[in-house]
Order: sequence, then C-alpha cells, then structure tokens
Amino acid sequence: MSRTVYVNGAFVPEEEASVSIFDRGFLFADAIYEVTAVIDSKICEWEGHVARLERSLGEIGMGMPMSSEELLEIHRELVKRNDMEEGAIYLQITRGAIDRDFVMPKDLEQTVVLFTQAKKLTGEKKGLRVVSMPDIRWARRDIKTVQLLAASMVKTEAKKQGKDDAWMVEDGFVTEGSSNNTYIVTAEGKIITRNLSNSILPGITRKSVLRIAEEMKMEIEERPYTIEEAQKATEAFMTAATSFVTPVLEIDGVELGDGTPGPVSKRLCEVYIEEARKASC
Ligand code: PMP
Repeated sequence: MSRTVYVNGAFVPEEEASVSIFDRGFLFADAIYEVTAVIDSKICEWEGHVARLERSLGEIGMGMPMSSEELLEIHRELVKRNDMEEGAIYLQITRGAIDRDFVMPKDLEQTVVLFTQAKKLTGEKKGLRVVSMPDIRWARRDIKTVQLLAASMVKTEAKKQGKDDAWMVEDGFVTEGSSNNTYIVTAEGKIITRNLSNSILPGITRKSVLRIAEEMKMEIEERPYTIEEAQKATEAFMTAATSFVTPVLEIDGVELGDGTPGPVSKRLCEVYIEEARKASC
C-alpha cells in the first residue's frame, strides 16, 4: 500500500512526491535529518529531537523552516494518514534548490520532506554481532547531516562479513556504531560510553538512557575506550531512536559474557521504553 508522505507543504502519495535535481541535499548533502520513533501512534522524545534539529541546522547556517509545533503537527498527521501504530518518522530539511554552486546561497526556500516507516520496534531483542572498522567520516559528527555514505559503507561491509553492524574506530578508540551510540559494562557494573564531542552524534536515546541509569544508581563513566577493552566487558549495548537499547553479543569474533543479552541492557531497555511511552505526544 502506498504511503502518504509530506513534501514542501503538501501531503501526497509517495509516487507523486518529488524534489528538484538541483536540490542541495542531493548535490552537496547540504541537509539535516532526524528520525523519531512512534509507539502507540504517538511521537517519542519530541523535545529532544526538535532541539537537536534546530542545533544541527544552526551549525550549518540554517534556521528552522517552521515552528516546532507545526513540525510536530506534520508528524502527527503522517501517523494518522498512514495509520501507523509503531515505526519511525524520517524528516529531512535541505537548504533548497538552486543552480549548482559551492557557495552556500542565502535565504533559499528550504526543502522539507517527511515520511513514515512502519515497523515493530518493541519486543524481545536478540542482540547484535559487530566488527570494528576505521571511522572515515568527517570531523563534525555532532551535526546530524545526511552525509551517510561512510556509515552506509561500514554497515554494508559488516553485513558482507555475516555480522550485524560496525563499531567505528578512530585513533585507537571506538567512536560509535554506524547509526548508534555504544556502551560497555565492566565486571563491577560500571557503564562506559564515549564522552560527547565533535567525534560523535549526541544521541537523544543516549541522553535519556544515561539519565535512567543514573536514577537507577548505576555508575557511569563518559570516556573513549578501545576494542580490546570492549572485548573484556561483561556486556555491551548500543542505543538509537528506533532500536532503543540493543545488546551487543560479540565484537570482532570475541563473545562477551556468556554470549546472551546481559541484565543491564535488558533492564535499561525495559525502563527506557516504559518512559518513552509515557512521555510520547
Ligand atoms: N550516532 C549516529 C552516527 C547515529 O546515526 C545515530 C542515530 N541517528 C545515533 C548515534 C543515535 O542517536 P539517537 O539516539 O538520537 O537516534
């Protein structure tokens, strides 16, 4: 069944949606995106996503094309029109369409595109096997741009090797997963995750999960760690908006703990989903 998508002010069947070949999102990856989870037909973590969206846009010299309330309304309308109970909403804002030029034009009408991806998000998590790969992305990974070629390449390579995802490594330390933040848990139960900087995306799920862990009196250390340290961890997990908290069972062929999802990631996932449901809008 064809979805209804949103393009520049109109809700249209996906077959009729189009953007210009001169769009700077297409030609220069001059665009910002967000992916927001939907549970029980409601939008999760709205405040966090819209705040990061505004920041990302600002970092590349763009503003919001409309108010946060108007954007939320479009999200809700898409959920309604597509009768979606669970899944993701993808939002992309580009600088707009203009004849190709490296100089960023001013005051162009932005392109705004949103679409839904219905899928089951809640439910038992099996856990992932990951492989490490060099992080070949640009230096401003804190901005959520659509330059996802490197992430797509490492994920594809991981699949080719029969694994589920890649953990990217720079200067000997893990940055993040192809599209998620990563964590390890020590034998003492301490959660270690890379500190925020230009090297990683400030995950919205990361922020909530760390708050929950703190409320649960778990010890947290925000610092870089190596693959070797991760392989000695008792458990590991990753977080992202539509996969919440997902256990990592194996890193570069080394099984963690007994090779099954660990109690810390299981508990954090349960509480995270419970809270995200309650706070959804
Ligand atoms: N890091 C990267 C590189 C990502 O692409 C994502 C997912 N967009 C994340 C981390 C997790 O962020 P969030 O929890 O906001 O989905």
